[in-house]
Amino acid sequence: MSTAPPHTVTLSTHFAQALPEMALPWQAADTPTPTLLLLNTALATSLGLPPLDTPEGLALLTGTHLPEAATPVAQAYAGHQFGNYSPRLGDGRALLLGELTDHNGRLQDLHLKGSGRTPFSRGGDGYAALGPMLREYLLSEAMHALGIPTTRSLAVTTTGRPVHRETTLPGAILARTASSHLRVGSFQFARATNDPDLLRRLADHAIARHHPEATTAENPYLALFDSVVAAQATLISQWMLVGFIHGVMNTDNMTISGETIDYGPCAFLDAYDPTTVYSSIDHAGRYAYGNQPGIAQWNLARLAEALLPLFDDNEDRAVAKALDVLSTFKPRYEEAWTSGMTAKLGLNTTPDTLVDDLLTLLRDNHVDHTSFYRHLATAARGNPEPARSQFLDLASIDTWITRWRAEHPDPDAMDRVNPVYVPRNHLVEEALAAATDGDLTPLHALLKAVTSPYTELPGHDRYAAPAPEDFGAAYQTFCGT
Ligand code: AMP
Ligand code: MG
Repeated sequence: MSTAPPHTVTLSTHFAQALPEMALPWQAADTPTPTLLLLNTALATSLGLPPLDTPEGLALLTGTHLPEAATPVAQAYAGHQFGNYSPRLGDGRALLLGELTDHNGRLQDLHLKGSGRTPFSRGGDGYAALGPMLREYLLSEAMHALGIPTTRSLAVTTTGRPVHRETTLPGAILARTASSHLRVGSFQFARATNDPDLLRRLADHAIARHHPEATTAENPYLALFDSVVAAQATLISQWMLVGFIHGVMNTDNMTISGETIDYGPCAFLDAYDPTTVYSSIDHAGRYAYGNQPGIAQWNLARLAEALLPLFDDNEDRAVAKALDVLSTFKPRYEEAWTSGMTAKLGLNTTPDTLVDDLLTLLRDNHVDHTSFYRHLATAARGNPEPARSQFLDLASIDTWITRWRAEHPDPDAMDRVNPVYVPRNHLVEEALAAATDGDLTPLHALLKAVTSPYTELPGHDRYAAPAPEDFGAAYQTFCGT
């Protein structure tokens, strides 16, 4: 503990107070030599935080000196990992410091990742390596700029403590914010305790924080479930439209808020192919790009199981009610996705088979997902060359473009929804490797591009271009644990 002056930051303790059974008071490990590497000043301002590039700021961002009233806790949760149930996961290398109130008056969790061992660490060291924390910062801020609900990254601080993985790497702490860290796995944990009061308190807390309109519904807990199904259907459609592969959609990595969480092995599609898997541990392709809607529904079924006793006293009736709501996931997802695809194509409605035929062509010709849609706006302006030159089967894409142009696509509308810049795998790897070696220039340049995804920046052509030929097929991502 330092002797820094009292904090001007206020951290509330709603979660810790409402759900003590799931909130283990815990302290962050000490940080030998904290160095602030990345700071999200816009986010800090929106949270009303004082300047953080100060000794007090660093103490907050590493959890070593907190406001007096703060109660940092490790959160308990359970979860299905790759389909297998673990009754006790929880924050093994993370801490919830407390809640901030943003400029809209909403609570935002302030959470640290890489802050040391906790009672949930099992065999892990509780620490995080710099590369994966920078990766989360980059990817989550890119998602936010794309307009996709996500946890946010506030800062990355190196600790001065090396961490040992296959090699020795610099250690770091990510400070992130989220509208909460309630997950499907939080409900699985509460249900497994067989304490109906705990489950109800957790659901009431979730309703108050995320879906307050459920309070006045005839069946508030079913309304909560319905809201989560709706939020996830929209979220997954946004992932699919932008080509985001989460990579580890375990039930402990799916939020109740509908925010994207846990940027481990995630990556953006290069060539469009529904079977794409980048994660080195996803051998069976459970979390392949094209499987994400189905997996989301599977996870929501696990949430329904956890909530069952709150739906109805009679189990058969509870199951029937749960299935009723769960069955809305697919149509909701499809509606959101279809309307998103229609917008990507610059249309108001899409004629039958136009989209399906395009997706078949994109897959068969290994076409770069992101740049294709952006180039297609150029085709709508009369120059099809940039889009068509990505295809081997020119006759088929020419026919398709002719059909599509007959629908009068609006290229300006397309440019508002089809990003120029996403965090492309080869650029992310380049930026993280340089940063780990002490050069932050490529990381800052990439951050600049991906946080302005819809606006072309002068001199940034290489950030919009597909991966070089020799990068790609064998690309793998890692959990960063
Ligand atoms: P994740 O894959 O990040 O969702 O983590 C799954 C579980 O493993 C969570 O309970 C984490 O807290 C835990 N975990 C991941 N990395 C570590 C680590 N280095 N030390 C301790 N626990 C970890
Ligand atoms: Mg996780």
